[in-house]
Amino acid sequence: MTINPVVALVRLHELEFGLGETANLSPERIQTEIERCRAEIGPALLARYEQLKKRFGSSALAEVQDNVCSGCRISLPQTLRSKLRQGITFCEHCARILYDPEEVYNLQY
Ligand SMILES: [Zn+2]
Repeated sequence: MTINPVVALVRLHELEFGLGETANLSPERIQTEIERCRAEIGPALLARYEQLKKRFGSSALAEVQDNVCSGCRISLPQTLRSKLRQGITFCEHCARILYDPEEVYNLQY
């Protein structure tokens, strides 16, 4: 089954940092899921994510909340909302990878 790359990236981020319910998974399950997510994300986006992780650690990904980047707390342009639905979007201020939590839950497998 193919997963949307944004969903896979959010999942990978949760798995790597033990966020949410991933904290209860067995190490084997975590490893399997990490590999599956990495395959879905693809090398280019994965490289970008690894770079951001070096710089920002567990906040390499930022949720968009009320049109504000949760990483740098700067307001985002209105046009960004539709961009978020189309694919990977970066914050133009802090460069973090942005995602809309509602969209991600709608796409969740
Ligand atoms: Zn930002």
